[in-house]
Amino acid sequence: SLCQNDPNETALSQRQLDAFWMPFTSNRDFKQQPRVIVGAKGHFYKSADGRQVYDLFSGLWSSGIGHGHPKIVEAIAKQASELDYCMSFQLGNDKAFLLADRLAGLAPEGMDHVFFTNSGSEAVDTALKIALAYHQANGDFSRVGLVGRERGYHGANFGGISVGGIMPNRQLYQGNLLPRVYHIPTTYDREHQAFTDGQPQWGSHLVEELEKICRVNGSHNIAAVIVEPAAGSTGILPPPIGYLERLREICTKHGILLIFDEVITGLGRVGDSFAAQRMQVIPDIITTAKSLTNSMVPMGAAIVNKKIYQTIVDDSRSDNRNVEFFHGYTYSGHPIAAAAGLATLDIFEQEGTFETARELETLFSELLHSFDDHPKVIDVRNFGLMGAIELETRDNQLGARGLETHKRCFWEQNVVLRNSSDILQFSPFLNAKPEDLERSFSAIKKVLDTIE
Ligand code: PLP
Repeated sequence: SLCQNDPNETALSQRQLDAFWMPFTSNRDFKQQPRVIVGAKGHFYKSADGRQVYDLFSGLWSSGIGHGHPKIVEAIAKQASELDYCMSFQLGNDKAFLLADRLAGLAPEGMDHVFFTNSGSEAVDTALKIALAYHQANGDFSRVGLVGRERGYHGANFGGISVGGIMPNRQLYQGNLLPRVYHIPTTYDREHQAFTDGQPQWGSHLVEELEKICRVNGSHNIAAVIVEPAAGSTGILPPPIGYLERLREICTKHGILLIFDEVITGLGRVGDSFAAQRMQVIPDIITTAKSLTNSMVPMGAAIVNKKIYQTIVDDSRSDNRNVEFFHGYTYSGHPIAAAAGLATLDIFEQEGTFETARELETLFSELLHSFDDHPKVIDVRNFGLMGAIELETRDNQLGARGLETHKRCFWEQNVVLRNSSDILQFSPFLNAKPEDLERSFSAIKKVLDTIE
């Protein structure tokens, strides 16, 4: 009835569909039955075939206060007419400074300096470079090793995939990944953690693998450890109780910088400014993106503590270099992105978004865990407003059931969710209406009850 198989329904020709090489997408499958969005307002998308579709993923974990928020739209329009662009190299736009200061104000105490990027991937690569530059500036020339984690996602650039722990993202490039990168094990083990609500009891001991890496390689050779406080893209893997605290302890003991990649967990997703504050574990560098502009304009950032910034800036005197840190992007601190960021942070404050998000956690967890006994489900996990329902793989066809669920929810139930392989992922709006969440999860249940 919806002409699902007719690409003409989207008003896009096959040639146009083929022209866009879509990221992290099964292009062949998608272009047979394109799911094209042509509008968005508040909590709903408008599909090319004219349906209102509820966005249960709030963009890509990223549009937490709803699509098309009029205050951000207004800020962008105003900025575009006042100052569309100026370079940030030896010149600067006022909004970038204002946003840096506001963002630092939301970060943990002492994390006062912000380097702007255009994405989470760039924020990660920037953070890794800052960590290496810091140790060099300190005269700690051997500290060049980096530690990531199995099942960590840190973007798609070379630095990020090197420290990242997802095999398909790395395998083609093995020979060209950063050298001297080590990985600690994932915190996830279904046998010990299945169906946990929030942080699992089991697993904090896994962080001791970092001590082993230090023993084997010399802690004086390690520059930084990067982790997501709770892994997001690989299926919501909350930190076991005590894990992050112990990670902080080990890093401090060995003089290793700790980087929290908060591209997903930052700015409300876990009911606080950052997971750092929610967990009361303070890293040396935080990366953020996505929610910073509610995704209306691309922007990311690396936020660093005073000591790191000061060390790198002071070191420039040693060789009389005029530019302290040779790094940056044409669009670092872009005025329109910065204006969108300022408007977004205003809304967070005015609407009490982080508190609202935290209040939604109980309902969200109840809705997710109502699937605990479902015959097709092998695990349910949640942390803040990040949630996952992991389906049993069908007939050895990894991901087939997950993708079919995503598609059927979109076409039959007017709900967008994300599947990563057979893991269904949920990232509701920070200000979602309870009745929309209830309706969406019962729609998902209908699909799971009838799927092969
Ligand atoms: N880091 C984390 C933890 C992420 O979840 C993502 C994206 O989902 C990134 C980095 C990369 O961000 P981007 O896609 O904006 O480059």
